[in-house]
Amino acid sequence: MRCPFCRHDETKVIDSRNSQDFSIRRRRECLGCERRFTTYERMEESPVRVIKKDGTRVPFDRNRIRFGIEKACYKRPVSPEQIDQLLGRVESLIYEDGEREVPSRRIGELVFNALRDLDHVAFVRFASVYREFQDVHDFVEELQPMLNIRRRDNTR
Ligand SMILES: [Zn+2]
Repeated sequence: MRCPFCRHDETKVIDSRNSQDFSIRRRRECLGCERRFTTYERMEESPVRVIKKDGTRVPFDRNRIRFGIEKACYKRPVSPEQIDQLLGRVESLIYEDGEREVPSRRIGELVFNALRDLDHVAFVRFASVYREFQDVHDFVEELQPMLNIRRRDNTR
């Protein structure tokens, strides 16, 4: 995220909140000139596009990713707020990459890393959820090698 005043590329987030329409409002302070500005990061208005393995592009779909994460966290000690935070963290990382187009593999890895830190069972479930819903950004296809490794690790 570049400062709109001096173009310095380091800013700190002072305040961040999700609003009901899934936009994220962030108050930022530039680490160069210390001026403050607000960003509204909206999927609808500024859609990041996901590059699928076959090279086609689809709009980034936050709700689909949330759906997958919620299913993975079913009956786990994970609160809706934690899911929000996880999703928010993944989104900020995607936005902070500054790219308009993101390989689906990258998104999958971000979700996987975040879930692994949060809850191991949810992490393993996430894998199987995405195997069933093969249209979800083609995560399944992209993540299959990782899932195979995971399953071998968990052989009882
Ligand atoms: Zn600045």
